[in-house]
Amino acid sequence: MRPEPRELQELVRDLHRQALPWLPAGSGSRLDWGPPVQPGPGQSEALVLSTARLDRIVEHNPGDFTVTVQAGTPLVGLQQELARHRQWLSLDWPWGTHAPATANGLGAGTVGGLVARGLAGGYRQRYLGVRDQLIGIGLMRADGTAARAGGKVVKNVAGYDLMRPLCGSWGSLALITEVTLRTQPLPPQRRGLWLSGALRQLQPLARWLLGSSLSPERLDWHRHTLAGATSDEGAALLISLASISPQTLEEQIACIGEQAAEAGIRVETLAPERLEVHLELGRGATTPRPGWLLRAGVLPARVPALLEAPELRGLSAVIGAGSGLGDLWAAAASMPAYRVEALRRRCQELGGQLTVLCQPPGPAGAAIPAWLDAPSRPLIEALKRQFDPKQQLARGRLPGVQPLP
Ligand SMILES: Cc1cc2nc3c(=O)[nH]c(=O)nc-3n(C[C@H](O)[C@H](O)[C@H](O)COP(=O)(O)OP(=O)(O)OC[C@H]3O[C@@H](n4cnc5c(N)ncnc54)[C@H](O)[C@@H]3O)c2cc1C
Repeated sequence: MRPEPRELQELVRDLHRQALPWLPAGSGSRLDWGPPVQPGPGQSEALVLSTARLDRIVEHNPGDFTVTVQAGTPLVGLQQELARHRQWLSLDWPWGTHAPATANGLGAGTVGGLVARGLAGGYRQRYLGVRDQLIGIGLMRADGTAARAGGKVVKNVAGYDLMRPLCGSWGSLALITEVTLRTQPLPPQRRGLWLSGALRQLQPLARWLLGSSLSPERLDWHRHTLAGATSDEGAALLISLASISPQTLEEQIACIGEQAAEAGIRVETLAPERLEVHLELGRGATTPRPGWLLRAGVLPARVPALLEAPELRGLSAVIGAGSGLGDLWAAAASMPAYRVEALRRRCQELGGQLTVLCQPPGPAGAAIPAWLDAPSRPLIEALKRQFDPKQQLARGRLPGVQPLP
Protein backbone atom coordinates (compact mmCIF):
# COMPACT_ATOMS: atom_id res chain seq x y z
CA MET A 1 0.00 0.00 0.00
CA ARG A 2 1.44 3.36 -1.06
CA PRO A 3 -1.17 5.93 -0.06
CA GLU A 4 -1.08 9.61 -0.96
CA PRO A 5 -0.74 11.80 2.16
CA ARG A 6 -4.44 12.74 2.00
CA GLU A 7 -5.51 9.07 1.86
CA LEU A 8 -3.30 7.91 4.73
CA GLN A 9 -5.47 8.53 7.77
CA GLU A 10 -8.58 6.92 6.29
CA LEU A 11 -6.56 3.88 5.22
CA VAL A 12 -5.06 3.42 8.70
CA ARG A 13 -8.49 3.83 10.34
CA ASP A 14 -9.89 1.24 7.99
CA LEU A 15 -7.10 -1.25 8.82
CA HIS A 16 -7.83 -0.61 12.49
CA ARG A 17 -11.55 -1.25 12.14
CA GLN A 18 -10.71 -4.60 10.57
CA ALA A 19 -7.92 -5.25 13.13
CA LEU A 20 -5.61 -6.16 10.25
CA PRO A 21 -1.88 -6.45 10.99
CA TRP A 22 0.45 -4.31 8.88
CA LEU A 23 4.05 -3.23 8.70
CA PRO A 24 5.13 0.42 8.38
CA ALA A 25 7.77 0.82 5.67
CA GLY A 26 9.87 3.36 3.85
CA SER A 27 11.44 2.23 0.59
CA GLY A 28 11.36 -1.42 1.73
CA SER A 29 15.14 -1.81 1.42
CA ARG A 30 15.67 -3.65 4.73
CA LEU A 31 12.21 -4.81 5.75
CA ASP A 32 13.22 -8.44 6.13
CA TRP A 33 16.11 -7.70 8.51
CA GLY A 34 15.46 -8.73 12.08
CA PRO A 35 12.73 -11.08 13.31
CA PRO A 36 10.08 -12.11 10.78
CA VAL A 37 6.78 -10.22 10.93
CA GLN A 38 3.69 -12.36 11.34
CA PRO A 39 0.92 -11.95 8.77
CA GLY A 40 -2.73 -11.83 9.79
CA PRO A 41 -5.09 -14.81 9.56
CA GLY A 42 -5.59 -15.83 5.93
CA GLN A 43 -2.66 -13.69 4.72
CA SER A 44 0.48 -15.22 3.25
CA GLU A 45 2.53 -12.09 4.05
CA ALA A 46 2.02 -9.10 6.31
CA LEU A 47 0.51 -6.06 4.60
CA VAL A 48 3.14 -3.39 4.03
CA LEU A 49 2.23 0.30 4.21
CA SER A 50 4.91 2.38 2.52
CA THR A 51 5.57 6.08 3.02
CA ALA A 52 6.97 6.30 -0.54
CA ARG A 53 4.46 9.06 -1.41
CA LEU A 54 5.21 11.09 1.71
CA ASP A 55 8.45 12.32 0.19
CA ARG A 56 8.44 16.12 0.54
CA ILE A 57 11.03 18.33 2.24
CA VAL A 58 8.56 20.42 4.21
CA GLU A 59 10.85 23.14 5.49
CA HIS A 60 14.58 23.77 5.65
CA ASN A 61 15.75 26.58 7.89
CA PRO A 62 19.47 26.90 7.11
CA GLY A 63 19.83 29.73 9.64
CA ASP A 64 18.37 27.61 12.46
CA PHE A 65 20.13 24.42 11.30
CA THR A 66 16.88 22.45 11.20
CA VAL A 67 15.01 20.60 8.49
CA THR A 68 11.51 19.10 8.48
CA VAL A 69 10.76 16.29 6.03
CA GLN A 70 8.00 13.81 5.37
CA ALA A 71 9.04 10.33 6.49
CA GLY A 72 9.33 8.84 2.99
CA THR A 73 11.90 11.41 1.85
CA PRO A 74 14.93 9.54 0.46
CA LEU A 75 18.05 10.14 2.54
CA VAL A 76 20.10 10.70 -0.64
CA GLY A 77 17.78 13.49 -1.85
CA LEU A 78 17.81 15.15 1.54
CA GLN A 79 21.61 15.14 1.78
CA GLN A 80 21.80 16.61 -1.74
CA GLU A 81 19.38 19.39 -0.85
CA LEU A 82 21.24 20.20 2.39
CA ALA A 83 24.61 20.17 0.57
CA ARG A 84 23.36 23.02 -1.65
CA HIS A 85 23.36 25.08 1.57
CA ARG A 86 26.72 23.64 2.74
CA GLN A 87 24.94 21.60 5.40
CA TRP A 88 24.39 17.91 6.08
CA LEU A 89 22.63 15.47 8.31
CA SER A 90 25.69 14.32 10.22
CA LEU A 91 25.06 10.58 9.97
CA ASP A 92 26.70 7.71 8.16
CA TRP A 93 25.21 6.12 5.09
CA PRO A 94 23.43 3.01 6.35
CA TRP A 95 25.27 -0.29 6.09
CA GLY A 96 25.01 -1.71 2.58
CA THR A 97 24.07 1.59 0.90
CA HIS A 98 26.71 1.30 -1.80
CA ALA A 99 26.92 -2.47 -2.06
CA PRO A 100 27.27 -3.79 -5.62
CA ALA A 101 23.93 -3.14 -7.31
CA THR A 102 23.67 -6.59 -8.84
CA ALA A 103 24.19 -8.37 -5.54
CA ASN A 104 22.42 -6.05 -3.19
CA GLY A 105 21.54 -2.54 -4.32
CA LEU A 106 19.90 -1.66 -1.00
CA GLY A 107 20.27 2.08 -1.35
CA ALA A 108 20.17 4.51 1.56
CA GLY A 109 16.45 4.20 2.25
CA THR A 110 14.19 6.89 3.63
CA VAL A 111 14.57 9.27 6.54
CA GLY A 112 11.62 7.57 8.30
CA GLY A 113 13.34 4.17 7.98
CA LEU A 114 16.54 5.65 9.35
CA VAL A 115 14.73 7.00 12.41
CA ALA A 116 12.65 3.83 12.87
CA ARG A 117 15.81 1.70 13.04
CA GLY A 118 17.65 4.29 15.13
CA LEU A 119 21.09 2.96 14.19
CA ALA A 120 24.15 5.13 13.85
CA GLY A 121 27.71 4.59 12.66
CA GLY A 122 31.10 6.07 13.47
CA TYR A 123 30.09 9.74 13.11
CA ARG A 124 28.31 9.22 16.40
CA GLN A 125 31.71 9.89 18.01
CA ARG A 126 31.43 13.61 17.27
CA TYR A 127 27.80 14.20 16.27
CA LEU A 128 25.91 11.66 18.44
CA GLY A 129 23.21 9.32 17.16
CA VAL A 130 19.99 9.70 15.16
CA ARG A 131 17.86 10.15 18.26
CA ASP A 132 20.02 13.08 19.41
CA GLN A 133 19.46 14.83 16.11
CA LEU A 134 15.73 14.38 16.18
CA ILE A 135 13.93 17.44 17.47
CA GLY A 136 10.39 16.78 16.36
CA ILE A 137 8.27 13.93 15.08
CA GLY A 138 4.85 13.48 13.48
CA LEU A 139 3.25 10.08 13.84
CA MET A 140 0.08 8.16 13.18
CA ARG A 141 -1.04 5.61 15.71
CA ALA A 142 -2.51 2.27 14.74
CA ASP A 143 -6.04 3.65 15.28
CA GLY A 144 -5.38 6.51 12.84
CA THR A 145 -4.83 9.22 15.47
CA ALA A 146 -2.28 11.74 14.24
CA ALA A 147 0.07 13.17 16.88
CA ARG A 148 3.15 15.35 17.16
CA ALA A 149 5.97 15.49 19.67
CA GLY A 150 8.85 17.91 20.03
CA GLY A 151 8.89 20.87 17.68
CA LYS A 152 10.75 22.59 14.91
CA VAL A 153 13.33 24.44 16.94
CA VAL A 154 16.34 23.09 18.77
CA LYS A 155 15.15 24.17 22.25
CA ASN A 156 11.93 22.45 23.21
CA VAL A 157 10.29 21.50 26.44
CA ALA A 158 6.69 20.55 25.70
CA GLY A 159 5.03 17.25 26.64
CA TYR A 160 6.30 13.67 26.79
CA ASP A 161 9.39 12.84 24.78
CA LEU A 162 7.84 10.46 22.25
CA MET A 163 10.84 10.79 19.95
CA ARG A 164 13.10 8.47 21.89
CA PRO A 165 10.75 5.47 22.02
CA LEU A 166 9.88 5.94 18.34
CA CYS A 167 13.54 6.10 17.35
CA GLY A 168 14.59 2.46 17.10
CA SER A 169 11.00 1.15 17.34
CA TRP A 170 11.32 -0.83 14.08
CA GLY A 171 7.79 0.16 13.04
CA SER A 172 6.28 -1.51 16.10
CA LEU A 173 4.71 1.51 17.84
CA ALA A 174 3.38 3.87 15.17
CA LEU A 175 3.86 5.06 11.61
CA ILE A 176 6.33 7.94 11.55
CA THR A 177 4.92 10.53 9.13
CA GLU A 178 7.25 13.52 9.54
CA VAL A 179 10.50 14.32 11.28
CA THR A 180 12.38 17.50 12.16
CA LEU A 181 16.13 17.03 12.40
CA ARG A 182 19.11 19.10 13.37
CA THR A 183 21.56 19.84 10.54
CA GLN A 184 25.28 20.66 10.72
CA PRO A 185 27.56 22.79 8.57
CA LEU A 186 29.52 20.62 6.11
CA PRO A 187 33.13 20.54 7.29
CA PRO A 188 35.19 22.37 4.64
CA GLN A 189 38.31 20.32 5.40
CA ARG A 190 38.35 16.60 6.12
CA ARG A 191 41.22 14.11 6.28
CA GLY A 192 41.65 10.58 7.48
CA LEU A 193 44.29 8.47 9.16
CA TRP A 194 44.62 4.72 8.93
CA LEU A 195 46.65 3.32 11.81
CA SER A 196 47.80 -0.25 11.79
CA GLY A 197 49.85 -2.18 14.29
CA ALA A 198 49.31 -4.76 16.98
CA LEU A 199 46.21 -4.38 19.15
CA ARG A 200 48.36 -3.83 22.25
CA GLN A 201 49.95 -0.84 20.46
CA LEU A 202 46.71 0.55 19.07
CA GLN A 203 44.66 0.32 22.23
CA PRO A 204 46.59 2.93 24.32
CA LEU A 205 46.58 5.28 21.34
CA ALA A 206 42.80 4.95 20.95
CA ARG A 207 42.38 5.65 24.66
CA TRP A 208 44.62 8.69 24.47
CA LEU A 209 42.81 10.03 21.42
CA LEU A 210 39.36 9.62 22.99
CA GLY A 211 40.50 11.61 26.01
CA SER A 212 42.34 14.27 24.01
CA SER A 213 41.01 17.63 22.85
CA LEU A 214 41.45 16.69 19.18
CA SER A 215 37.79 15.54 18.98
CA PRO A 216 37.95 13.36 15.86
CA GLU A 217 34.75 12.98 13.87
CA ARG A 218 35.16 9.26 14.13
CA LEU A 219 37.53 6.70 15.58
CA ASP A 220 36.58 3.24 14.36
CA TRP A 221 38.14 -0.14 15.00
CA HIS A 222 38.34 -2.08 11.75
CA ARG A 223 38.96 -5.72 11.31
CA HIS A 224 39.28 -6.93 7.76
CA THR A 225 42.01 -7.26 5.22
CA LEU A 226 42.98 -4.12 3.35
CA ALA A 227 45.85 -4.87 1.00
CA GLY A 228 49.10 -3.76 2.58
CA ALA A 229 47.52 -2.08 5.58
CA THR A 230 46.56 -4.79 8.00
CA SER A 231 48.19 -5.53 11.30
CA ASP A 232 49.22 -8.95 12.62
CA GLU A 233 45.86 -9.39 14.32
CA GLY A 234 44.07 -7.90 11.33
CA ALA A 235 42.94 -4.80 13.26
CA ALA A 236 43.35 -1.13 12.46
CA LEU A 237 42.00 2.25 13.53
CA LEU A 238 40.32 4.62 11.10
CA ILE A 239 40.28 8.25 12.21
CA SER A 240 38.48 11.07 10.47
CA LEU A 241 39.32 14.67 11.35
CA ALA A 242 37.39 17.75 10.26
CA SER A 243 38.01 21.43 10.68
CA ILE A 244 37.37 24.78 9.10
CA SER A 245 41.13 25.41 8.95
CA PRO A 246 43.65 23.36 6.92
CA GLN A 247 46.37 24.42 9.35
CA THR A 248 44.50 22.98 12.34
CA LEU A 249 44.07 19.73 10.45
CA GLU A 250 47.79 19.54 9.69
CA GLU A 251 48.59 20.16 13.36
CA GLN A 252 46.19 17.42 14.47
CA ILE A 253 47.62 14.95 11.96
CA ALA A 254 51.17 15.76 13.10
CA CYS A 255 50.20 15.34 16.76
CA ILE A 256 48.62 11.92 16.17
CA GLY A 257 51.51 10.92 13.89
CA GLU A 258 53.99 11.68 16.68
CA GLN A 259 52.11 9.57 19.22
CA ALA A 260 51.77 6.75 16.70
CA ALA A 261 55.48 6.81 15.78
CA GLU A 262 56.45 6.60 19.47
CA ALA A 263 54.28 3.50 19.79
CA GLY A 264 55.65 1.93 16.61
CA ILE A 265 52.32 2.17 14.77
CA ARG A 266 52.17 2.53 10.98
CA VAL A 267 50.27 5.63 9.80
CA GLU A 268 48.72 6.29 6.40
CA THR A 269 47.30 9.77 5.86
CA LEU A 270 44.15 9.70 3.74
CA ALA A 271 43.02 12.44 1.37
CA PRO A 272 39.19 12.80 1.30
CA GLU A 273 38.77 10.37 -1.62
CA ARG A 274 40.90 7.67 0.07
CA LEU A 275 39.04 8.28 3.34
CA GLU A 276 35.79 7.64 1.49
CA VAL A 277 37.14 4.31 0.16
CA HIS A 278 37.92 3.18 3.71
CA LEU A 279 34.53 4.36 4.95
CA GLU A 280 32.79 2.42 2.21
CA LEU A 281 34.70 -0.69 3.13
CA GLY A 282 33.29 -0.37 6.64
CA ARG A 283 29.76 -0.25 5.21
CA GLY A 284 30.14 -3.48 3.29
CA ALA A 285 30.46 -1.74 -0.08
CA THR A 286 32.48 -4.60 -1.52
CA THR A 287 30.36 -7.29 0.09
CA PRO A 288 27.47 -8.99 -1.65
CA ARG A 289 24.40 -9.37 0.52
CA PRO A 290 25.93 -11.02 3.60
CA GLY A 291 24.74 -14.28 5.06
CA TRP A 292 25.27 -12.79 8.50
CA LEU A 293 24.88 -9.18 9.52
CA LEU A 294 25.21 -8.54 13.24
CA ARG A 295 25.07 -5.43 15.36
CA ALA A 296 27.35 -5.69 18.38
CA GLY A 297 27.76 -3.43 21.35
CA VAL A 298 30.25 -3.88 24.20
CA LEU A 299 31.82 -1.54 26.73
CA PRO A 300 34.12 0.73 24.69
CA ALA A 301 37.21 -0.32 26.67
CA ARG A 302 36.44 -3.97 25.84
CA VAL A 303 36.31 -3.60 22.04
CA PRO A 304 39.92 -4.84 21.63
CA ALA A 305 39.00 -7.92 23.70
CA LEU A 306 36.10 -8.52 21.32
CA LEU A 307 38.34 -8.07 18.28
CA GLU A 308 40.69 -10.70 19.65
CA ALA A 309 37.93 -13.16 20.53
CA PRO A 310 38.18 -16.47 18.65
CA GLU A 311 34.42 -16.33 17.97
CA LEU A 312 35.04 -13.38 15.65
CA ARG A 313 37.03 -15.46 13.17
CA GLY A 314 35.59 -15.16 9.67
CA LEU A 315 33.72 -11.90 10.36
CA SER A 316 34.55 -8.40 9.17
CA ALA A 317 33.93 -5.80 11.85
CA VAL A 318 33.77 -2.04 12.22
CA ILE A 319 33.16 -0.82 15.77
CA GLY A 320 33.20 2.73 17.16
CA ALA A 321 36.00 3.10 19.71
CA GLY A 322 34.01 5.65 21.72
CA SER A 323 30.61 3.94 21.62
CA GLY A 324 31.60 0.26 21.49
CA LEU A 325 28.86 -0.23 18.86
CA GLY A 326 29.31 -1.55 15.37
CA ASP A 327 28.53 -3.91 12.52
CA LEU A 328 29.92 -7.41 11.91
CA TRP A 329 29.30 -9.38 8.74
CA ALA A 330 30.30 -12.58 6.97
CA ALA A 331 29.30 -14.90 4.18
CA ALA A 332 26.97 -17.66 5.35
CA ALA A 333 29.55 -20.40 4.80
CA SER A 334 32.29 -18.77 6.85
CA MET A 335 30.29 -18.54 10.09
CA PRO A 336 28.48 -21.49 11.64
CA ALA A 337 25.41 -20.55 13.70
CA TYR A 338 26.83 -21.98 16.93
CA ARG A 339 29.71 -19.47 16.70
CA VAL A 340 27.23 -16.58 16.44
CA GLU A 341 25.59 -17.84 19.64
CA ALA A 342 29.04 -18.02 21.26
CA LEU A 343 29.77 -14.49 20.04
CA ARG A 344 26.55 -13.28 21.62
CA ARG A 345 27.65 -14.76 24.95
CA ARG A 346 31.07 -13.13 24.54
CA CYS A 347 29.45 -9.72 23.94
CA GLN A 348 27.40 -10.19 27.10
CA GLU A 349 30.56 -11.01 29.08
CA LEU A 350 32.10 -7.82 27.71
CA GLY A 351 29.19 -5.77 29.05
CA GLY A 352 27.07 -5.63 25.91
CA GLN A 353 24.79 -7.45 23.54
CA LEU A 354 24.39 -8.70 20.00
CA THR A 355 21.54 -8.17 17.54
CA VAL A 356 21.18 -10.52 14.58
CA LEU A 357 20.01 -8.39 11.65
CA CYS A 358 20.48 -10.97 8.88
CA GLN A 359 21.06 -14.70 9.08
CA PRO A 360 21.19 -17.43 6.47
CA PRO A 361 18.02 -19.48 6.01
CA GLY A 362 18.11 -22.64 8.10
CA PRO A 363 15.76 -25.40 9.22
CA ALA A 364 12.39 -24.19 10.57
CA GLY A 365 12.58 -23.16 14.22
CA ALA A 366 16.39 -23.08 14.22
CA ALA A 367 16.79 -19.34 13.68
CA ILE A 368 18.82 -17.43 16.26
CA PRO A 369 16.62 -14.82 17.97
CA ALA A 370 17.35 -11.37 16.57
CA TRP A 371 17.49 -10.02 20.11
CA LEU A 372 17.03 -11.35 23.62
CA ASP A 373 14.72 -9.91 26.26
CA ALA A 374 15.85 -6.52 27.54
CA PRO A 375 15.59 -5.90 31.30
CA SER A 376 12.92 -3.31 30.46
CA ARG A 377 10.73 -5.84 28.60
CA PRO A 378 7.64 -5.23 30.81
CA LEU A 379 7.88 -1.50 30.14
CA ILE A 380 8.34 -2.02 26.41
CA GLU A 381 5.28 -4.30 26.30
CA ALA A 382 3.21 -1.83 28.32
CA LEU A 383 4.15 0.93 25.84
CA LYS A 384 3.19 -1.34 22.95
CA ARG A 385 -0.24 -2.00 24.49
CA GLN A 386 -0.84 1.72 24.84
CA PHE A 387 0.20 2.58 21.29
CA ASP A 388 -1.18 -0.44 19.51
CA PRO A 389 -3.79 -2.31 21.61
CA LYS A 390 -4.84 -4.58 18.73
CA GLN A 391 -1.20 -5.58 18.09
CA GLN A 392 -1.49 -4.59 14.43
CA LEU A 393 1.91 -3.07 13.78
CA ALA A 394 4.95 -5.24 12.94
CA ARG A 395 3.30 -8.17 14.73
CA GLY A 396 5.94 -10.45 16.31
CA ARG A 397 8.70 -7.83 16.07
CA LEU A 398 9.16 -5.72 19.17
CA PRO A 399 12.72 -4.54 19.93
CA GLY A 400 13.82 -5.74 23.35
CA VAL A 401 11.28 -8.58 23.43
CA GLN A 402 12.61 -11.97 22.39
CA PRO A 403 10.54 -13.19 19.45
CA LEU A 404 8.76 -16.52 19.73
CA PRO A 405 10.55 -19.32 17.80
C1 LIG B 1 25.52 3.61 10.14
C2 LIG B 1 24.19 2.98 9.95
C3 LIG B 1 24.12 1.63 9.83
C4 LIG B 1 22.90 1.03 9.64
N1 LIG B 1 22.87 -0.30 9.53
C5 LIG B 1 21.71 -0.92 9.37
C6 LIG B 1 21.64 -2.29 9.27
O1 LIG B 1 22.66 -2.95 9.32
N2 LIG B 1 20.41 -2.88 9.13
C7 LIG B 1 19.29 -2.16 9.08
O2 LIG B 1 18.22 -2.73 8.93
N3 LIG B 1 19.32 -0.85 9.16
C8 LIG B 1 20.50 -0.21 9.31
N4 LIG B 1 20.52 1.13 9.42
C9 LIG B 1 19.27 1.83 9.39
C10 LIG B 1 18.92 2.15 7.98
O3 LIG B 1 19.12 3.52 7.83
C11 LIG B 1 17.48 1.80 7.69
O4 LIG B 1 17.32 0.41 7.82
C12 LIG B 1 17.11 2.24 6.31
O5 LIG B 1 17.15 3.63 6.28
C13 LIG B 1 15.80 1.70 5.94
O6 LIG B 1 15.22 2.55 4.95
P1 LIG B 1 13.93 2.13 4.23
O7 LIG B 1 13.21 3.38 3.89
O8 LIG B 1 14.19 1.25 3.05
O9 LIG B 1 13.15 1.34 5.34
P2 LIG B 1 12.42 -0.06 5.25
O10 LIG B 1 13.36 -1.13 4.84
O11 LIG B 1 11.19 0.13 4.47
O12 LIG B 1 12.05 -0.24 6.79
C14 LIG B 1 13.07 -0.44 7.74
C15 LIG B 1 12.45 -0.55 9.11
O13 LIG B 1 11.92 0.70 9.53
C16 LIG B 1 10.51 0.62 9.74
N5 LIG B 1 9.96 1.84 9.12
C17 LIG B 1 10.28 2.35 7.93
N6 LIG B 1 9.64 3.50 7.71
C18 LIG B 1 8.87 3.72 8.81
C19 LIG B 1 7.98 4.73 9.20
N7 LIG B 1 7.72 5.78 8.42
N8 LIG B 1 7.36 4.64 10.40
C20 LIG B 1 7.62 3.60 11.22
N9 LIG B 1 8.47 2.61 10.90
C21 LIG B 1 9.08 2.65 9.72
C22 LIG B 1 10.06 -0.66 9.11
O14 LIG B 1 8.96 -1.22 9.76
C23 LIG B 1 11.31 -1.53 9.23
O15 LIG B 1 11.37 -2.11 10.50
C24 LIG B 1 21.72 1.79 9.60
C25 LIG B 1 21.79 3.15 9.70
C26 LIG B 1 23.02 3.75 9.87
C27 LIG B 1 23.07 5.25 9.96
